[in-house]
Amino acid sequence: MNIHEYQAKAVIKEFGAPVSRGKAIFSAAEAEAAARELGGPLWVVKSQIHAGGRGKGKFKEASAGEKGGVRLAKSVEEVKQFAEQMLGATLVTIQTGEAGKQVNRLYIEDGSDIDKEFYLSMLVDRATGRVAFVVSTEGGMDIEQVAHDTPEKIVTFAVDPATGVMPHHGRQLAQALGLVGDLAKQADKLASVLYKAFVEKDMAMLEVNPLIITKDGHLKCLDAKVSFDDNALYRHADVVALRDITEEDSKEIEASKYDLAYIALDGTIGCMVNGAGLAMATLDIIKLYGEEPANFLDVGGGATEEKVTAAFKIITSDPNVKGILVNIFGGIMKCDVIARGVIAAVKAVGLQVPLVVRLEGTNVELGKQILRESGLNVIPADDLDDAAQKIVKAVKG
Ligand code: ADP
Ligand code: MG
Repeated sequence: MNIHEYQAKAVIKEFGAPVSRGKAIFSAAEAEAAARELGGPLWVVKSQIHAGGRGKGKFKEASAGEKGGVRLAKSVEEVKQFAEQMLGATLVTIQTGEAGKQVNRLYIEDGSDIDKEFYLSMLVDRATGRVAFVVSTEGGMDIEQVAHDTPEKIVTFAVDPATGVMPHHGRQLAQALGLVGDLAKQADKLASVLYKAFVEKDMAMLEVNPLIITKDGHLKCLDAKVSFDDNALYRHADVVALRDITEEDSKEIEASKYDLAYIALDGTIGCMVNGAGLAMATLDIIKLYGEEPANFLDVGGGATEEKVTAAFKIITSDPNVKGILVNIFGGIMKCDVIARGVIAAVKAVGLQVPLVVRLEGTNVELGKQILRESGLNVIPADDLDDAAQKIVKAVKG
């Protein structure tokens, strides 16, 4: 689960991380009041959407002005003017895709005098089973370029969960960022504060880009992006309360109601598969034969007919879907359950596009028979390769 920048900052601030003062607002009038309260002389008006690259983003509407999604303002009037321009407008960044995202809330923040911009992030390194820090002196809006051109400028170290953050981690952080004296002490504190926040809140990722040194010698988290481990949300009611479903894909929200592992993609072939590994292999083979998948979907091992029906409805609700591939290897999952679910869903929502079904495993004959006798226009397939070729051919016409 993702949250907005201002929420992420509030979370890490609770643990003692240095962030600027600011206020989230929903209207230009609120923006003006927030600007007065903060006092200036410099403010930053920041679009709150669940995507990065806002600073370099562009609004679709000409009325939103030429500047990006993060704007420096030098007066209360300017804050208000930017808020009027940005609220309701659609911001396109490198992470939103072409459609962009509507900006419905802004964060009005104290402007900082920046001396240097660093990069810091933390994530769960599955290879070592540890929380890793990823840091670079080359922070700011071009970090992707740094990672591509000069990867040696990115330093990584991991923390053993048995010990937690130790003084040597603080020193490693300071050294990686070239900090000495008081700034090194601040880096040491920051490492332990952020690690504590990460672990206690069950974060999956925390990115502070930029982490800055202010002209008066303080480290500050100027941007913050946090995503939480969904499997641990049950023990963080306070985190769940931060969810903004207007930022999420409506198909993914629907899927989460049925506990389906669904991720929307940009392609044309809708996929219903059981097992994450088989689902990924299915996406790969669709690409191999020259088409793009419209989604990742793992219906899981113990899916009921109701769940399969819901999954099928979600797939067909995507207007980009030009064909559907059902690929089931029945182990715990039974092929006849899938067949009944598919038929129930088609009866409910109709079938406008070609449907290829590949069934194998438990109750396969029964499943095939149910589909045959349904009278539905199903294209049967024998194996994964056959199924992929058939759906690609059907879609290409
Ligand atoms: P994004 O990463 O989505 O582009 P950031 O929050 O990192 O958004 O903002 C982009 C840039 O704007 C930062 O790299 C920084 O240079 C500047 N900036 C952001 N917040 C402030 C602030 N409070 N004071 C001064 N400059 C800021
Ligand atoms: Mg940033």
